[in-house]
Amino acid sequence: FGAMNLSQTIAAIATPPGVGGIGVIRISGPLSSSILKSIFQPAHSSFDIWPPQAYKLIRGKIVDPKTTAVKDEVLAVFMPGPGTYTGEDVAEIQGHGGPVVLSAVLETVLSQGARLAEPGEFTRRAFLNGRMDLSQAEAVVDLIHARTSRAAKTAAAHVGGALKSRVEGILDSIMECRAQIEAALDFSDDTGDGETKWILAKLDQGVISPLKELAEAAELGKAHMEGLRAAIVGRPNVGKSSLMNALAGQERSIVTETPGATRDVIREPVLIRGLHFTLSDTAGLRTSSDAVEMIGVQRAKDAMGESDLVMLVVEAGSDLSPEDQELLHQAEHSCNRVLMVYNKMDLHPGFIPSPVRDYAPVAVSAKTGQGLDGLRRAMENSLRQGRELDAAPGIIPNLRQKGALESALESATEARSRILEEAWELAAFDMEEAQKSLEQVLGLGVSPDILDRIFSDFCIGK
Ligand code: GDP
Ligand code: ZN
Repeated sequence: FGAMNLSQTIAAIATPPGVGGIGVIRISGPLSSSILKSIFQPAHSSFDIWPPQAYKLIRGKIVDPKTTAVKDEVLAVFMPGPGTYTGEDVAEIQGHGGPVVLSAVLETVLSQGARLAEPGEFTRRAFLNGRMDLSQAEAVVDLIHARTSRAAKTAAAHVGGALKSRVEGILDSIMECRAQIEAALDFSDDTGDGETKWILAKLDQGVISPLKELAEAAELGKAHMEGLRAAIVGRPNVGKSSLMNALAGQERSIVTETPGATRDVIREPVLIRGLHFTLSDTAGLRTSSDAVEMIGVQRAKDAMGESDLVMLVVEAGSDLSPEDQELLHQAEHSCNRVLMVYNKMDLHPGFIPSPVRDYAPVAVSAKTGQGLDGLRRAMENSLRQGRELDAAPGIIPNLRQKGALESALESATEARSRILEEAWELAAFDMEEAQKSLEQVLGLGVSPDILDRIFSDFCIGK
């Protein structure tokens, strides 16, 4: 398979498509130097020594060796491996940033024996050549696609190896536990309480609790990176659309005096206390014989199913109606975070809603704006779940990593029970499993299929 063949030299336009001040062609692989030599004509004869001084920009022209046609005036740089991004010899050509001129230069490069790089192939090579582990490679794509400065900060920390070193620390602890368990296996009769206690302490502090922390961070991180989806649901006319408008700060949803007018689901991205939410305003969830209304009801149920947070809106002044109870029941089934919002407080001044189960009620008026700040705080808290995200180092595992962390956690927890039973052999097996799962975060033992999937998310040229 092409992407695995490191003996080939690859090339691509590394800058985004379209017109720009400059455009960069990147070449990586064993032919980088000879290709550059064959197509590059330095402006000064003093640059004629080959290979040129590493990391020095040289001015010159790209000339087609066959036709001697000049393709562009450029700056070229050569970077010898293994200290480069890919770990291979790399050449970069900075030309004028127009798509036609860049394609002409790229074609000239390809005519000299390079092939077009696949998406993410430069970074894949960096991984295969040991320049970075998989957690760092994955972070490169997150960094490029980061939509908020917070997401970029986290991605940059991962590129820098923050997750990698955390995982390596846990792996060290696993090794230490395994060594002690092996010893216990060999001398199982005289394994004292002291040794068992030592292993348990190491396992708890060095493996289980840091794994739990990372898995939790992944959960929060998803919300961080992708934003949280919040469905606003409730019976018709309680003020869902008004509330959405008030939070979004603009008139988008249809607000009406007739119950059930919002037929469709309307989505609105909003920034609440620095966090990204996508609000969805749905039709009232009630059984209805009206066909159009029924479609709306189904959409609302779907919206709840796809949400991270359900904001159940009820009208202040009374307790939950049976319909509200039913909505709450559905919300609890579809999503683990629920906010109870009592609206129209302006009509019921002094009303104090009683808490329903664990849900602290939030009292607001979409009309006057009363309580909206409290609602925003409650939305933020439900996302943070009481944790201070900013204080934590920016380590946020992605979904794939989260899966690996969770299976490692499962095996380590299993091992803990075995250790308590002094079933050393089983404990040894579970610890080995924990290690294997955890190593996948770094990319060890990850199948080529999964690598394909990861790197296909990249753009060409990265
Ligand atoms: P939805 O059907 O749940 O989306 O409710 P709407 O947002 O369409 O509102 C229904 C009616 O209640 C409209 O007449 C709104 O102006 C009114 N309404 C919404 N929120 C408030 C509020 O906080 N106070 C008062 N007095 N009226 C409100
Ligand atoms: Zn509405």
